[in-house]
Amino acid sequence: MNKLLYQFSGVAGIFFPVGKPEDDGTCEFASNKCLLACAAINCNPKKGFKQIRNPDNGSTIQCEEGIEKIGHEKKKELYDFIIEKPVFQVCDRIMHELAEMKCNILYWFACGDCMKKDEARILKIIEYLDNEGVIQCGFTRNKTFWEESVKYTNYIALTLESYWEVLKSQTMGLFAVPDYKNNTVKIYKGQETYWICGGNFTYLKLRVNTIKSNCLECFNKKEGCFTKYSK
Ligand code: SF4
Repeated sequence: MNKLLYQFSGVAGIFFPVGKPEDDGTCEFASNKCLLACAAINCNPKKGFKQIRNPDNGSTIQCEEGIEKIGHEKKKELYDFIIEKPVFQVCDRIMHELAEMKCNILYWFACGDCMKKDEARILKIIEYLDNEGVIQCGFTRNKTFWEESVKYTNYIALTLESYWEVLKSQTMGLFAVPDYKNNTVKIYKGQETYWICGGNFTYLKLRVNTIKSNCLECFNKKEGCFTKYSK
């Protein structure tokens, strides 16, 4: 394996295989909607998929050319390394590659997710990297993993399907709600919406900002997942 980390949203990303575990992926907590709208699954040229479907209204958009740059087999290789090699070896490799990339921000699950069986190991890696001063952000749908991850970082968001679910959570954590219609993600801190990530349109409500997704820029400006409300 040549590389463990790949550029993602201006930082270094960890890519795991996408899809449900029964389809050889790591998205154990995926909703039917996100599976339909997932570019990594549906823009796979090898499988002949060329469209992403909006699960809210059935409309389709063409996949961008070359969106699926890291194939499924490569992602499996990266995942196997992280899950099977000794934790210290994985952490050492990540630190080494971050230094090579001149980047101190690691994005968890640029693709895929943390499966239940991998929670303890991934948390151990996150803890180690946190002690080394690595900033860690990203999205997960695994609630128990997310609840534990806040011991080390407040920049990993729990993805929920609706604002209603955010309200029900009654916590001040970081949440992400996909907006399938606009192909963006709403970022909430507790019940407050304060960012729309990935948008390049104007949103009319006051207090809501829109940004093109670039985590490094967010970190430098203390915006998005890195606003002053976070750790
Ligand atoms: S809001 Fe900023 S930090 Fe959060 S995912 Fe989007 S680009 Fe990255």
